[in-house]
Parts: sequence; structure tokens; C-alpha cells
Amino acid sequence: MSENTNGNPGFADLNLPSFLLSALGKLGYETPSPIQAATIPHIIEGKDIVGMAQTGTGKTAAFALPTLARIDVQLNAIQTLVLCPTRELAIQVSEAFQSYASGMHGFHVLPIYGGQDMRGQLRSLKRGVHVVVATPGRLLDHLSRKSIDLSRLKTIVLDEADEMLRMGFIDDVETILKSTPDSRQVALFSATMPPPIRKVATRYLKDPIEVRIETNVTTNENIEQFYWLVSGTNKLDALTRLLEVEDFDGMIVFVRTKTATVELADKLNARGYSASPLNGDMSQTIRQRTVEQIKKGSLDILIATDVAARGLDVERVSHVLNYDIPYDDEAYVHRVGRTGRAGRSGKAIMFVTPRERRLLRSIEKTTRQKIAQMELPSRNELITKRSRDLKSSVSEALKMELSDVYRNVVAELQTEEESSVEEIAAALVYLAQKDRPLIPPKETPRASYDDKREHRPRNDRDGGRRDRGGDDRKDRGDRKGRKNNADMESYKIAVGHKDQVTPREIVGAIANEAGIEGRMIGQIRIQDQFSVVDLPKGMPKETFDILKKVRVRKRQLNIERFQDNAPPQKKHD
Ligand code: AMP
Repeated sequence: MSENTNGNPGFADLNLPSFLLSALGKLGYETPSPIQAATIPHIIEGKDIVGMAQTGTGKTAAFALPTLARIDVQLNAIQTLVLCPTRELAIQVSEAFQSYASGMHGFHVLPIYGGQDMRGQLRSLKRGVHVVVATPGRLLDHLSRKSIDLSRLKTIVLDEADEMLRMGFIDDVETILKSTPDSRQVALFSATMPPPIRKVATRYLKDPIEVRIETNVTTNENIEQFYWLVSGTNKLDALTRLLEVEDFDGMIVFVRTKTATVELADKLNARGYSASPLNGDMSQTIRQRTVEQIKKGSLDILIATDVAARGLDVERVSHVLNYDIPYDDEAYVHRVGRTGRAGRSGKAIMFVTPRERRLLRSIEKTTRQKIAQMELPSRNELITKRSRDLKSSVSEALKMELSDVYRNVVAELQTEEESSVEEIAAALVYLAQKDRPLIPPKETPRASYDDKREHRPRNDRDGGRRDRGGDDRKDRGDRKGRKNNADMESYKIAVGHKDQVTPREIVGAIANEAGIEGRMIGQIRIQDQFSVVDLPKGMPKETFDILKKVRVRKRQLNIERFQDNAPPQKKHD
């Protein structure tokens, strides 16, 4: 059986218990993605499922939410097992479980992967966990040691099954499937369906429901489409640079969550743009008023979610910016269609992280249109644009009848400072452009501070490939000399020997959350109460804020500068 999502159900229509609905509300999720709408009700009912979906489509929540709904927290036993191809994915998935389960008192999830300290895993297992998210090799190690008991398992999820096949884990996956009770439910997620995966589905799944999100849509020809591959500059800086250089009338910036609409609008307002959020939490009156404002031109930028901007028809909108890539091709077409209205031309720009390239290809395939790659405006373009803007406002001012007081000040400066009119004018230009310097500061390459973990191709990430045996000496060992000390600064994080933290866990968390490549992370000095880690200079505030909240060993890192305890400087550019 194959299902498509044409209607637009809300989370409340998917039979999810109220504690999950309120967790989703807190996370700012507005509406289920197509894969979520199509799979959640079936998984809750206990049906086996084959879901064709890739990363970025919201598939983690598509299995995490319904399996959480089936968990009995009072029962101290592993009830859901998720198998993932890589360590990073295992960590990411277990964090997702943790955040969705925020209202489930006493709930425990444990990521298990090769290279991680076995004793820690054994201790956590002894304490009791409800969900295990594991890479296959390490899970087999536990099964052969009998340190994991799957006898009460209700659901097994195979996440990114085609990746597990590609990485040579498929035999392990079968062995694990055979070690689970017959009564368990199987949910298999895979971006593609190569024959060996199809075989697993046929052999181990009972009357599975097959969910494939099909889209058949096209975009308007009068809309130019571009994407920028997120690298070297974070998304917020990239956006402000585009806002400065792009000639736009009105713009809609699309993000994924309601929370992000508010946060991003605040950040843009702080940077001097007139931006407003538009999300499903706002009352109808306020939404209408916001739309009126952008129509009339008293507002230029809307930061919107898909739901809130559905069907929006504002002629002034010359640009659509996909700050977060949409999780399905159809949403892309809807978003892009908010520009190029009434026969006008429009421009659509999308930020794509390296990890999301597959989604980009899928959009191109669906819309049968190539999306051109673009570079961010260069520093020279910024200089030209800023000079041009300044000249045009000076030219306006020259047309005004200015009082003699202004001229007198210039004359006085000439004598008092013994300066020429050109020198005084240059100083005034400098003052006028203090916030947007005509000569922007030079960029320091910050390859390590890209948006989340987006650097290497996924099968190239360390630790993910061969998790069995878990040789972690590479990361544990001496990280000295990885990077020149002059390029690094030291940060204090709130985990230490008291938490039994390992260098590998610290590297894993920082690499995963801040997108800092493992090799860019310098020395790690673990002390009793805290640790000190060297990271590349020039950490953007956004990364810093993320790292403050990251948890390792259940403890928030609360990262701070080690030497002077000051937060990193705000970037200028
Ligand atoms: P995934 O495909 O599971 O890797 O999810 C991609 C991203 O989308 C994650 O950052 C999720 O937090 C986010 N996400 C998943 N479902 C939703 C939703 N219904 N609304 C907003 N964001 C979501």
C-alpha cells in the first residue's frame, strides 16, 4: 500500500498524546512534515512500516514521536531500539528523543556507539533505559556480552537503512533483527530501496505500510533560483550580507520553526532591518496586520514558517529566501511561489548545508529545473554598494537648503584642526558609516565554524564507518599540535572527571553541535570540576550560544572563555 499526503493534518490529528503535543509546541514545530503525517498514525497503531525518506525531511520525529507514544515509562526495559549507520546520527537521534520526551518523567534514552567508553554504557544500561539508539557493531558487542536485554522490545527502527547497507552493516542488522522478539514492530527508513534492503523488508516486516512522499510540481519560469552552499560564514551573517547587497523590495525568509521566526526577526531588527515574524502562534488579527504592513511597505522582511505563509500573495515580494531548506519538494515550490506574483519577476535563494545536498538534488529533480549555485557578495561588492548608498544620500542632502550653522562648523574645523575640506569630509564619512564601515573588516577564514556539522561527506565522518571494536585512541590521545596555538583560544566547559567525561565525548559533542571539524578541535584538558578545550579563534556568537546549551553526560557545557571569562566578541561583518 502506498500513501501520499495531500491534506494538511496538524499534529493534534495524529493521535499523539498531549505530553508530546506540548513538547512539540515548546520546540516550535507548527505542522507535521509529509513523512510525519503519513507514518505517525500507523506506527502508533503498531504497524510495520517502510518509509522512503532522507535526512532533512523530519524523519527522526516521524519514528521518535509514535514510538515514544507507545513507551511505558514505568516499565524498566528497552522498548525501542533504533539502529543508525553512524555515531553522529546516533547522538543526534537520541537527542531528538530526549527533547520530544521532555514531558515524560523518568524517561531515559541512551546512544550506544563504537569508540565510546564501554564502562559508561554498561553503567547507564544497568540504571535502566527505555530507548537505545545504536550503531550495529557496538550493539552486537553488547548482545554477545548479554549486557543488553531486548526481550521486552516493542519497536525496532532501522534508520538510513541504505547507508547501513553501504557501510557493510547489513549482516549485523539482520543478526540483530533475529535477536528481537517476534512480536516487535519494525519501522524501516531509507532514502532509496536497493534490492538487499527490499529483501530485509520482505523477510522481517509483516504487511508493512509503505510510505513514499511523491510530489509532482513545478516552479514559475519568471523566478530566478539560486542556492548558496553554507560554508565559511554562518547563515545569519550570510543573510545580512545578502540583505545589504540584493536589490529587494519585500522579502520572505522561510525558517522551520515558530521559535526561529521570532529569533531571526529579533536578530535582524537588532541589525537595523525592519523584519517581523509570521507564524501560526500569532493571532489572526496580528497576522493580517503584519501582512498589511508588508503590502504597504512599512515592513520589508517577513520571517515565516510554511504554514503561516501559505497562499500569501503580496506583489511587493521580490525575494524568497529559504534560510532553512524545506523538508519536501512541494513546500519548496509553495515557498518560491510567494514571489514572482502578478507577472513580476522574482528571485529565490536557498541556503543549503553540505549535508542537505541530497534534498537540493531532489528539489531539482521534482521541479525539473536546475538551481544555480551562487557565492555570497564579496567584500569589494560591499564596499561598492556602501559607497553608492552613501553618495546617493549625500546627493539628496546637497539638494536641501541647509542652514549656515553646518557650513560654519566646517569652516571652524578647517582653522581649528588645520585641515582641508576633503579631510574633514572624509572624517564625516567615516563617522556616518561607523555601523557600516565603507571598508568592511577583512574576513578571517572560519572554515571550522560553518553551520552544523556540515563538512565532510557523511560516510567520511570519523567513528561512523566501522564502529565495532571502537578504537578511540586517535581522539583520546594527544591532541597537541593539531593546530597552531596562535589560531586557537581556550574555553572552559562545565564537565570534568567528576562526570567521567572522555575527550572523545567532548569532541563528539562540539563537532556535532557547532560543526567544528574534529581536526580543528585542539587540546582538551580534563580537570576534576571542569575541562578546558582549545577551539579556533573567532567563534561566532551563534556557535557560542549553541555550545553553551549543549549537554555532555547530561550536564550543560556552559562554555565560557577560559582566560578572561568574557564571551567572544561580536563579529563586525
Ligand atoms: P530530520 O529529517 O529528522 O533530520 O529533521 C530535520 C530537521 O527538521 C531537524 O532539525 C528537526 O528538528 C526539524 N523538524 C522535524 N520535524 C519538524 C516539524 N514538523 N516542524 C519543524 N521542524 C521540524
